[in-house]
Amino acid sequence: MSESRHREALCALGRSLYERGLTHGSTGNLSVRTADGFLMTPTGCSLGALDPARLSALDGAGAHVAGDPPTKEALLHLAMYRERPRDAAVVHLHSTHSVAVSLLAGVDPEDVLPPLTAYYAMRVGKLPMLPYFPPGDAGLAAAVGSVAARHHAVLLANHGPVVAGATLAAAADIVEELEATAKLWLMLRHERLRPLTAEQVADLARRFPR
Ligand code: ZN
Repeated sequence: MSESRHREALCALGRSLYERGLTHGSTGNLSVRTADGFLMTPTGCSLGALDPARLSALDGAGAHVAGDPPTKEALLHLAMYRERPRDAAVVHLHSTHSVAVSLLAGVDPEDVLPPLTAYYAMRVGKLPMLPYFPPGDAGLAAAVGSVAARHHAVLLANHGPVVAGATLAAAADIVEELEATAKLWLMLRHERLRPLTAEQVADLARRFPR
């Protein structure tokens, strides 16, 4: 995909996520890997009003080379790309239901949500929760980097989800599936739940390898 198409795609996804209430204010950030480095959403701007010409361009080593200064979470995106060479897009949102789950004490930090549906099992799978760090803290990027080789989706405690995908559209599907499942789980977690069995999850992994 050409760089101008990447720029248009980032802005279109940002607008769509913002207009559907999947992130608010100037929260959330998106990035893609390009032929020469990365394009990221700038710091302090609304995903609903991105300007393709002002997106932040970073070189392959992560240095800012053009456009507005990148998101404060640039290091977190770079940590995902470093550990996941086959992925080419990262999406981070403050989507309400996923953030709500990230606030609950007593969830399993190794795997926060049960496999409620086939699409959750296929697109998200196991979801670890990482400890709380202030936005932009180097410890946050290090924590993401420590699990990213094994996990393309993580939940940041008291913050929100970060996911990587082979394409921007794939990453969007993953984060939206996570948000929808977080919502279902919050609706149902005090009921008698019947998640997919380990056998059903293993069968999905065989049928639809990631
Ligand atoms: Zn954030």
